[in-house]
Amino acid sequence: MIIDVHSHAWNFPGDFTADFIAQANRARPGVEIDLRVKFDDYAATAPPDTKTICFGGKARLSGVWVDDRHVADYCAAHADRLIGFLSVDPTQPGWEDELEHGHRALGLRGIKLLPMYAGFRPDESRLDPLWRYASQHALPVLLHTGTTFIAQAPLECTLPRHLDPVAARFPDVKIIMAHLGHPYEGECLVTVRKHANVFADISALHYRPWQLYHSLMLAQEYGVWGKLLFGTDYPFTTVNATVDGLRKLNDFTRGTGLPRLDEAQIEALIHRDALALLGLT
Ligand SMILES: [Zn+2]
Repeated sequence: MIIDVHSHAWNFPGDFTADFIAQANRARPGVEIDLRVKFDDYAATAPPDTKTICFGGKARLSGVWVDDRHVADYCAAHADRLIGFLSVDPTQPGWEDELEHGHRALGLRGIKLLPMYAGFRPDESRLDPLWRYASQHALPVLLHTGTTFIAQAPLECTLPRHLDPVAARFPDVKIIMAHLGHPYEGECLVTVRKHANVFADISALHYRPWQLYHSLMLAQEYGVWGKLLFGTDYPFTTVNATVDGLRKLNDFTRGTGLPRLDEAQIEALIHRDALALLGLT
C-alpha cells in the first residue's frame, strides 16, 4: 500500500487570486499543469489501495484561501481513501477559532501550514497556542518548507532550521517538512536527524531528478532514510509519476563511478506506513 502524505483539495481558480495564478506559471517551467483537483483523476494515476492526506491551505499574503469545509467535504466523499488536514494562517484574525473548528467540528486530523506563503516563521511565539493544541490533541503538523514561485513570500520564513527550536520545545508533535525543504535539503535532513518526531516528505521533487538524486544520497549518508515520507503534491504531479521518478534516479549512475541509492530503501520509502508513524491509523 502507498500512503501519499501530501495532496491538495481546493477550488481552482476560485480559491486563488489572479496574481497567484499568474505567478504559478513558474512552478514547473515549460509544463502546463491543470490545477483543478478531481478525485477521479487522482485515483486513475495511483494504485487502488493508496491512502492520501489532503489539505487546502491559507495564506492571505500570497493569495490562497481554501475553506476547511471544502477539504472536509472532499475527504468525506472518499472517506475510505482520504484523510483531511485543516489549515490556518496565523497572521490573520480568528485563526485560533478556525483551528478548533477544523479539528472539533469538521473532524480534520492534522494541520497544514504555509509559513513563507503567509509570511510568518513557525518558531514565532504567536504560534505557541498552535503547537500546544497540536501536542494536546495529537495532531500532526505538515509545513511547506523550501522555495516557491511567489514573489512576495519571504524566503526567510521557509528555512527548515526554524523547526529545530519548535521540535525541541514540543518533542511529541509529529512534524513533517514538505518537499525536503528544497533547495535547503541539507538543513532539512540535519533537523530531521536530530528529532525523533520530525519527518520530511519527498513530494514535488521527482521532476528535478538530479537534485533529488543528491538529496536522497545525502539522506543515505546521514542514515535518515526511515524519516522520509512518500508524497506527491497532487495536482502538481501524481502518485504513479512520483513512484516512476524515484525508481529511475539510479539511471544517473549507469556507466559512471557515482554511488547508487539503496534500492531497498527507495522501495521502503514508497511503501512506508506514514499513517502509523503519524499516529493516524
Ligand atoms: Zn503542496
